[in-house]
Amino acid sequence: MPDHFIIQLIGLENKNIQLLDYSIENHICHIHIQLKRKKHACPSCKTRTDRIKDYRTHTFQHLKVAEKRVYVHYRKRRYACSCGKSFDEKNQGLVARYQRFSTLWHQAALFHSISAPSFTYTAKTFGTTAPKIMRLFDARTEAFSTPPVSLPKVIAIDEFKGDTDKGKFQLIIADPMTRRPIDILENRRAKTIQRYLRERGHQVEMVIMDLSSTFKNAVQQALDKPVIIADSFHFSRYIYWALNKVRVRVQQRFSEKDRKHGKRIQKLLFKRSHKLDTAQKSIIRRYLSLHPDLQTAYTIKEAYQAWFDANKAQERHDVRQSLHDFYQLVQDKQLPEFIKAIGTFRRWETEIINAFIYPHLSNGFVEGINNRTKVIKRTSYGYQNFSRFRAKILAQHFIKDFDISVG
Ligand SMILES: [Zn+2]
Repeated sequence: MPDHFIIQLIGLENKNIQLLDYSIENHICHIHIQLKRKKHACPSCKTRTDRIKDYRTHTFQHLKVAEKRVYVHYRKRRYACSCGKSFDEKNQGLVARYQRFSTLWHQAALFHSISAPSFTYTAKTFGTTAPKIMRLFDARTEAFSTPPVSLPKVIAIDEFKGDTDKGKFQLIIADPMTRRPIDILENRRAKTIQRYLRERGHQVEMVIMDLSSTFKNAVQQALDKPVIIADSFHFSRYIYWALNKVRVRVQQRFSEKDRKHGKRIQKLLFKRSHKLDTAQKSIIRRYLSLHPDLQTAYTIKEAYQAWFDANKAQERHDVRQSLHDFYQLVQDKQLPEFIKAIGTFRRWETEIINAFIYPHLSNGFVEGINNRTKVIKRTSYGYQNFSRFRAKILAQHFIKDFDISVG
């Protein structure tokens, strides 16, 4: 086999590398190399010299090739200057001093550890131990360990269940403009949020959130007159939940056949009626005829959706008045499920109206971030360490730009 082919095969594409010897066993490949003799500037007096002092072998592990571990035995040359100084030759990033693994290996293992489901998996893939990978990960993601000095003008906050050593629920703070996480707080308690926002939220003017009164109070107390925007998916849910509660309540008296299709019916009920095809329309019509409350609940839902769509498209300029008209409709119909839902709407009216004043701002992208986080959580064992969990979430969203996907 030509020497340079071996060199290329193990990914050491450096024209200065000379292959001295190699052996390939069952699971291990040994490569013996040295670099070409070259004039080097003495680090002490800058005189250029290629006078050889001696050689020392530096053995290190490199990336696996075809499931075989690769050990590189690098015959490292030392030069001796006439000034008395002796020094190592430059190896162009092949391996750092005293390292047991090549530079390329470190880089690849780091990328892998950020996106892979677990450190154990990365360790296996790269022929090392999990603690070694964790140390590498911790050292190289150190940049994420310091929270940002100040938050941007608009932020989105949401909770998620991380189950770390610091608590069950964590709070994510994200940037709606870049659609990236900014930080993860160790819990979702009011005190934690307040302290964080007081320290770093001087520039924050708007906060997007779901309908959590804890979040609202914390944000209002920590910031100076923030504009709070209720996320439209989260507040609309209350109307759809009410519709579903009515369905579940009345269908208890239905025949088994009508009850059994409940879940499928629910999907159709939730769809905007003008988006149903003829067959679906007739299913809905028959279903609604089974109980007057169903018909009423459906009418309210459709009225809500019409109100929502028109205001989202900014076709009307009376969000508040038309919302009050909707409340009136609900009051007239007297379904307890919807009376309760508009109670929530009333408590969040200003924030809900803000969602239509700033129709481009929503929390939807945070859902995507949280879904990725769930994958990390599900596939990794022993993710109790909060700071590592946090670094992993933040780092993952930065390496996305490199478009690398691993296992
Ligand atoms: Zn010198």
